[in-house]
Amino acid sequence: LLQDHQLHAAELERTFIAIKPDGVQRGLIAEIVSRFERKGFKLVAIKIVVPSKEFAQKHYHDLKERPFFNGLCDFLSSGPVVAMVWEGEGVIKYGRKLIGATDPQKSEPGTIRGDLAVVVDRNIIHGSDAPKTAKDEIALWFSHGELVSYTSNAEKWMYGVN
Ligand code: UDP
Ligand code: MG
Repeated sequence: LLQDHQLHAAELERTFIAIKPDGVQRGLIAEIVSRFERKGFKLVAIKIVVPSKEFAQKHYHDLKERPFFNGLCDFLSSGPVVAMVWEGEGVIKYGRKLIGATDPQKSEPGTIRGDLAVVVDRNIIHGSDAPKTAKDEIALWFSHGELVSYTSNAEKWMYGVN
């Protein structure tokens, strides 16, 4: 059972999640949103955008030396992406668990990539991999005013502070 100050701290953990152009074109937006939502994470920002190639390069700057970098940035900027921020206790690490391993051939069944994707360069979803990248990615994709802080009615039932 969490104390009030711990609940407050838990509320502040946020991660950046994006449904890539393949996930959008395949009609998987609702399926993916629903997996985060029914777990109990809270949606605090969402928009649909077509990122420029320069923007995609910024998003994936950590991977610029990798052979797949150019193709990856071309693909991310090839069509609409659903950009989101999700909030909740442990959401960065657990969000990655919901998503599954990078290569869908290795993702467990039950994960988003395990259930819905087949190859690594069309793995339908992005999620921040650590607190620092979550902070940077949220700041890259969203302005402060696009993030909505609110108390959901379910929270006291989710976290046990009644
Ligand atoms: N990727 C790829 N080929 C590879 C490895 C990665 O096309 O051999 C793509 C894949 O879409 C992946 C993205 O590059 O989601 C970013 O790679 P990263 O290692 O950060 O994986 P993620 O964090 O998305 O699981
Ligand atoms: Mg990554």
